[in-house]
Amino acid sequence: MAAIGLAAPAQARLVTKNLPVVMIDPGHGGMDPGTIAADGLFEKTITLATGHLLYRALSRTGRYRVEMTRSTDVYVTLEGRVAGATAAKADLFLSLHCDHLPEADLRGASIFTLSSTASDRLAAGVAADENSADRFAGPHFSGVSPQVAGILASLETRATRVGSATLAQDIQRSFTGVVPLLPDPHRSANFAVLRDPSTPSALMEMGCLSNPLDERLLRSPSHQQLVADRLTTSIDAYFANYSGGRGLRMAG
Ligand SMILES: [Zn+2]
Repeated sequence: MAAIGLAAPAQARLVTKNLPVVMIDPGHGGMDPGTIAADGLFEKTITLATGHLLYRALSRTGRYRVEMTRSTDVYVTLEGRVAGATAAKADLFLSLHCDHLPEADLRGASIFTLSSTASDRLAAGVAADENSADRFAGPHFSGVSPQVAGILASLETRATRVGSATLAQDIQRSFTGVVPLLPDPHRSANFAVLRDPSTPSALMEMGCLSNPLDERLLRSPSHQQLVADRLTTSIDAYFANYSGGRGLRMAG
């Protein structure tokens, strides 16, 4: 497991221990650069920078305990990311990525939730790209551990599925008119990193590094801050309005 979040002072920890846990997952890292822009900028660099901004924006609200699957430029397997969210008893898991589509004129952000079958060909291709991060883990990772096999067997519980869809809708709503979106921005596919059955999860493609306009936005710290702020608004809306899964147990 990579470093998680930042250490909180003892008093703050007492106050925050019952807060919902949000796990931010900056995609790729270390030997896995993710997709690469025309000028050599790595996806892993953008996801980590935006992840830190989101960490700060969510922490500032005082409403969440925020953790990260990685807070430095290290490689974490997809299995390790899922296991980290499970161990932290995360109430929400949000994976951050940048897309690379075959058509350079396509641009905009999109939000993916888990489904055993892809919603369309584009979604299937994106899932195949993101799942392939585990090729970096080497041959010892060709199978899955019994723990992950158990997770796969029981995935897509109803509460998790509804929670994930709700989060995706909240993100789409808060991005509309502010951050460019792909047509039909909420898609579903079989993403390895979204397979924790107990945690509502979404994977955010923040834009397309294959599109020059998106690339310019994605590398800009002010746009990264805008994305972090809109995601914070989405997560606020999710916890304010949605009472499924762990949110219901906490409220009840
Ligand atoms: Zn990615």
